[in-house]
Amino acid sequence: MPKQIVDQLGWTSRAPLGHKTVQTRRCSRSVTAFPSATNAFTLIELLVVIAIIAILSGLLFPTLHRAKELSRRMHCTNNLRQIGLGIQMYREENGDRPPLYLVNPGRNTHGFPGGNQPYLEKGYLPNTNSFICLSDRTQGHIPIDLDWEYFGDFTTSYAYHLGAWFQCTQEGRDWLKQQLERWQARYIVAACPWHRHLYSGWTVKTYDPQRSFRHKTNIRDLCLRYDGSVDSFRWPTTNWHEEPYLVH
Ligand SMILES: [Zn+2]
Repeated sequence: MPKQIVDQLGWTSRAPLGHKTVQTRRCSRSVTAFPSATNAFTLIELLVVIAIIAILSGLLFPTLHRAKELSRRMHCTNNLRQIGLGIQMYREENGDRPPLYLVNPGRNTHGFPGGNQPYLEKGYLPNTNSFICLSDRTQGHIPIDLDWEYFGDFTTSYAYHLGAWFQCTQEGRDWLKQQLERWQARYIVAACPWHRHLYSGWTVKTYDPQRSFRHKTNIRDLCLRYDGSVDSFRWPTTNWHEEPYLVH
């Protein structure tokens, strides 16, 4: 192949030693011609990268938070289903009478009767993990009291609506009977307030029945219905003593 064609194509040719030296020198010059400064980040580039990471993180974290809450709600739903099955088994073995408490209330029953009665935890559920919701940051020490069976000393995340007060006094039994007849399968047996609780900002100090129930949030509590189904509901803003609470 003629030499000029080889040179045009850039192939290595058997050039004389002097010519090769020139090529090598050119080549080494061209490599060292790139200063190291062009390989490093400038301050502006670094700031742009940091800004992009910050924006992506801002987009990602709420998604992760929602995904975590979704998985906690699924776990909680399974807990309530287990509790519902346990209550059904308890009623079959105790003449259609539901348990007074979900778990042993311990010494402090706040004057409620039934401290020596068997509880749902005694053989009707695989273990006591089913009584704790993963969204419950206090692990069973609910800081609010809506006249349901949940007080600070009870180790359950769930409000139980068939509790001792309603079963052990004539007034309570009449009220419970009337509620069950009125709402039937829609009657709420137990509820988990923690999912909405996390977003409404309730704490022991900030809880106020008037203000807290007015807090606008799309997060709903989970509940176990009388027929054993589990769904969500929203506390009404004013008449929370009325059953079965608002379902949207
Ligand atoms: Zn829950």
